[in-house]
Amino acid sequence: MRTMPGQGTDQEELFALMEKMKHQDTKWREGQTFCLVYDGGKEISEVNKRAYNLYMSENGLNPSAFPSLKEMENDVVSILAHQLGSTGEVTGTMTSGGTESILMACKAARDWARQNLKITGTPQILMPVSAHPAFHKAAHYFDIEVVTVALCDNYRVNIELMKNAITEQTIMLVGSAPNYPFGVIDPIGEISKLAQDHGLWCHVDACIGGILLPFYRKLGQAVPPFDFTLPGVTSLSVDLHKYAYAAKGASVVLYKNAEYRRHQFFITTDWPGGIYASPSMTGTRPGGAIASAWAMLHFLGEEGYLELVGTIKQTTEEFYRRIEALDGVKTVVKPEMSLIALASDQHDIYQIGDEMSLRGWYMDRQQFPPSLHLTVMAGHAHSIDRFFSDLQASILEVQKFSNRMSHTQTQIKKALIRSMPKGIISALVKKEVRAIRQSGGVIPKKTAPMYGMLTSIETQGDVEKLVLNIMDSMFDQSLPVNNSVKDVS
Ligand SMILES: *Cc1c(COP(=O)(O)O)cnc(C)c1O
Repeated sequence: MRTMPGQGTDQEELFALMEKMKHQDTKWREGQTFCLVYDGGKEISEVNKRAYNLYMSENGLNPSAFPSLKEMENDVVSILAHQLGSTGEVTGTMTSGGTESILMACKAARDWARQNLKITGTPQILMPVSAHPAFHKAAHYFDIEVVTVALCDNYRVNIELMKNAITEQTIMLVGSAPNYPFGVIDPIGEISKLAQDHGLWCHVDACIGGILLPFYRKLGQAVPPFDFTLPGVTSLSVDLHKYAYAAKGASVVLYKNAEYRRHQFFITTDWPGGIYASPSMTGTRPGGAIASAWAMLHFLGEEGYLELVGTIKQTTEEFYRRIEALDGVKTVVKPEMSLIALASDQHDIYQIGDEMSLRGWYMDRQQFPPSLHLTVMAGHAHSIDRFFSDLQASILEVQKFSNRMSHTQTQIKKALIRSMPKGIISALVKKEVRAIRQSGGVIPKKTAPMYGMLTSIETQGDVEKLVLNIMDSMFDQSLPVNNSVKDVS
């Protein structure tokens, strides 16, 4: 068991230790990471750190103690409301991230429905299968049910299916602008119209698109209406810690008007500690994240964002052209913004992903269809040539492998997995987890076998069990301290 150190550690030694721990992390500064970090360059990062440090200790929970934070929050919300089609009524709050923004919108919709709709049974949210897992999380937490709707061939939600799926229990319709896995915008106009016709709540998940899309429009791209310019839109989520470059922990949830927002708030009046009012999920709200978001919007302004977005747009278009021109890979669908799903008709894309990982590239693995995810950032303009020479090399490497393993062999293997009884799959799962444990609680470097297995296992329960076991082992404090940390001392 790890215990509290008896004595403190010298500052220098401590930071040397942390720098060393950091070595095992993905090297996002080199432009080889395509998710999780939104790098706007050195100057932006400096401004961010200054703003964050200035408010590191301040708490946004109680506005009477820190009126400056309240002012900044209101300023941030108001700027985004204006960017996203408000003519004055749209309002909202800041939250700690896209997930919390979505949780809050779902909670508000549920409480609004309790007052305004006559629902018997569990309320239902109707959303495209491509919508973010945060909606499933909301359902998991708030006693709501998610009903997913299939996509069309163009990877946008099938509006006819959505229409037919509306029931007496439906409270909310969801669309993404754009969705994360494929980077295309759902038909928000039609979704919001459908919601309006049925007297339902409509949430637009613009977590990743809310900052970029208005600038894409300014740069001449025809972006369909997706925001409060549509009368049927009730709420919208937009993240600041993504393409607004704010420090982590900054997002905004917006509502058509203050009446809808009321359903988000929480108040208790009978606590011995006093009347307690909190706008969102968290109690304490980090002042640093609010200050950083405010500072970014004012540091960059329209001009600054327009320039960065211009680079992002051009770079994504170049990625798209070069992927389409390359033999052996393709995009799942033409991106509408800065997100690309990279797939292959000829090879196992997860194996290509493994080869890319060995060359230092970090990309998420996706399923249905198997693909790798690229969130394109301005910095990728400098690493794009390296990306494509490594991608070409990776494809060649995988080609060699496929030649060794004949087509029939692959077919036999696939058929075998498919026909395996549940018990054997469970044993397989256990073996996989044991391997992960033995390697020190870290998922093995090569993920292709695991992802291949995940998509070929047919029962949902087995996949869930596998992932739960992996999570247990990731957060297992009884495992030895990570090697790279251990050998520092
Ligand atoms: C990132 C993202 C979210 C969730 O945001 P977090 O900040 O990771 O909680 C939700 N929806 C979309 C479309 C996203 O891209």
